[in-house]
Amino acid sequence: MCWGWGWRLLVPMYPPGVGIGVDDGFGKLFPFRCFETDERRIGMLALGICFSFTSSHDALQCPDMIRTRFIGVLILLLLLGAGGFWFWHRNPSTVVAEQTDVIPPPPPGPVIDVQERTVVEGDVFTKVMEDLGVSYGDALTIVTNAADVFDLTNIKVGRTFKLISEDGVRARVEYEPGTEYAIKIDLENGLAVTKELIKYDVTVETTEVTIDASLFEDGLAAGMSEQLIIAFANIFAWEIDFATVVQKGDHMNVLYEKRMRDGKEAPIGNILAGEFTNSGTTVSAFRFVGADGKEGYFNEEGDSLVRPFLKSPLAFGRVTSGYNYARMDPVIGVVQPHRAIDYAAPLGTPIMAVGDGNIIRASWNGPYGNEVMIRHNSQFQTNYAHLWKFAKGIKPGVHVSQGQTIGFVGSTGRSTGPHVHYEVVVNGTKVNPQDVKFPKGESIGAEEQEAFEAERDRLKGMME
Ligand SMILES: [Zn+2]
Repeated sequence: MCWGWGWRLLVPMYPPGVGIGVDDGFGKLFPFRCFETDERRIGMLALGICFSFTSSHDALQCPDMIRTRFIGVLILLLLLGAGGFWFWHRNPSTVVAEQTDVIPPPPPGPVIDVQERTVVEGDVFTKVMEDLGVSYGDALTIVTNAADVFDLTNIKVGRTFKLISEDGVRARVEYEPGTEYAIKIDLENGLAVTKELIKYDVTVETTEVTIDASLFEDGLAAGMSEQLIIAFANIFAWEIDFATVVQKGDHMNVLYEKRMRDGKEAPIGNILAGEFTNSGTTVSAFRFVGADGKEGYFNEEGDSLVRPFLKSPLAFGRVTSGYNYARMDPVIGVVQPHRAIDYAAPLGTPIMAVGDGNIIRASWNGPYGNEVMIRHNSQFQTNYAHLWKFAKGIKPGVHVSQGQTIGFVGSTGRSTGPHVHYEVVVNGTKVNPQDVKFPKGESIGAEEQEAFEAERDRLKGMME
C-alpha cells in the first residue's frame, strides 16, 4: 500500500482524473481534476507504481472519476502484461539470470567511534591531546608538523577536537577553528597535519525586508540570521549609518549563499549582492572577484563600497543626541554646542575605529572620561569619549585598522548613561560627522569593467 501525493509520470495519454502514476513522493506533475481533496492509492510498491482511487468525496464532485480510473487500471495492467511477455520472449536468459543473481551484502565498514573534547579557558593543545589519549611528545610533534598549515598553539575556547577511531584504533583528530576549513591530524601516518575545506550544500537565496523598526529587528522577524544581518550591514557600513538614517519604509534585498551541512543549517557563505533603499535612494552592492583573486563589493557603476571611513563607530546603536550648535547640557544645565554625535548602546558594546590611523590619545580626559583619539591622515581625526575601558593594546603610537575595536561603551566623565560621544575633526575643526564628504572608494579597473558589468547583471537577474 502506498498513500499520499505523487508524480504522475505514466499517463499523459489518460484524461485528467485517472489516477495511475509512479509515486516518488513528490508533488503534482499532472493537474488532476478533483485531486486536491483526498486521494487514496494502492499499488505495487516493488515497481513504485500506484493506482489511485478517489474517495467518495471526490466521486461526489466528480462522478465519472472512479469509472475512468478503473479503465486506467485495466489499461495499465494490460500494458504491463504485454510488456512482460515481450521482454521474456526477447531475452529470456537475462530474466533467468536476474532471478538467480544474489546481491552480495555490502562489505562491513569499520566501526567508527568519535570522542569529543571541547576547549575550555586555560587549555593548551597538548593538554587537549593528552585528554584524548595522545602523548605529550606526539602532541609537540603535531604542533611542529602543523606549523605551515595552522598554529595549534592558538586554539579557541568553545571549539571542539574530535578523535575518530576506526575498529578501536585511533585514526585521526579533527578540529575546525572556524566555519571554512578543518584541520586533520593523521594519527596513523606520521602525525601528518592537513587543512581541508569544509564541504557545504550551497543554495543561493534572496530575502527582502521592509523596515518597520530597525534593520536588526525586522531582519530577524523576516527569518534572517543574526550573522546575515551583520554581514549585510557591514557591506553597507561605509554608505549607510544604520543607527541614524534608517527609517520606516526603507527596504532591503539580499542575495546570499545559504549553506547546509549534514541536513542542518550552517553559517552563511558569501553575500553575492544587496540593495538598501533609504528615503527613496537605493544603494546597491555587487560582489566581484577580480582576475587577481581579490574580492570586494562594488556599486552599480563599479565603485568600491569600501571607503576610508565608516559611517559610524558602532555596528548598531541609537543616536540620542545629534550635532547641535545650541544644546542644553543635561549634566551642567548650560546651553553649549554639541559638536558630536552621541550613540547610546549597552555598557560594554565594542567601539570601532572608523578608519585606519594612529592612536594619539587613550587616557582620561576630564569631562570626556576615558577618551580615544585617532589621527587618520593630515586632514582627518576622530575622537571617542566616555569609554568604559580601552581595548587591549590601545595606546598612543599604536596603528589601528578600520573596524578594529578600540574600546567599549561606558559612561565615564560627564555623562548620564552609557554612550559614545563621537567627534570628527577635519583640519582642526569639529564637523558634523553626518555631513562629512568622505572620499570615494576605489573603482573597478578599466580592463575589468566589462567583466564586472556582466557579473553585476547576472546577480541582478538572480535578485529579481
Ligand atoms: Zn556627546
